Amino acid sequence: MHYCELIKADCANGPGVRLSLFVSGCTNCCKGCFQPQTWAFDYGEEYTPEVEEMILEEVKKPYYRGLTILGGEPMEPCNQAGLINLLKTFKQQNPEKDLMMFTGFTYEQDLLEGQRKHTPFTDEILDLVDILVDGKFIESEKDIRLKFRGSRNQRIIDMKETRKTGSVVLSQLNN
Ligand code: SF4
Repeated sequence: MHYCELIKADCANGPGVRLSLFVSGCTNCCKGCFQPQTWAFDYGEEYTPEVEEMILEEVKKPYYRGLTILGGEPMEPCNQAGLINLLKTFKQQNPEKDLMMFTGFTYEQDLLEGQRKHTPFTDEILDLVDILVDGKFIESEKDIRLKFRGSRNQRIIDMKETRKTGSVVLSQLNN
């Protein structure tokens, strides 16, 4: 896996102060994507065990509310495999902090069992994530007033409630 950016003390990509990791590679090809350079899976730097260790050390600092994973596309199958250890370890070490993820895939149509982006890691990742922003960026639905979303079709999902109830529960962050 490669990553294109790591932002420390980020206040733009989720609630509170966050550590944000942008992974490389995306096949969604959204028209109007603001970072098409991240579509290439080999863009940016190689994600090594040393990088992972540095992220896990950094995010322990008390002023971080959580970890945000963006892209590119974190839920591309190869990126799911590349991220699983980080996400599991983050949650084990920081049970009080939250995990947010942005995906261009749609939860019910792409990520559930039997769907095109479901892998042996998907369910575990979806159980670890607290807040999932899903859906492609659609230029005609673009709205700069939206918080944490680029277009109106995208949803901010409360994953803990969604996994518990079996149907999508939207987060209060949508309001
Ligand atoms: S999912 Fe994100 S990175 Fe991928 S094409 Fe769409 S806007 Fe760009």
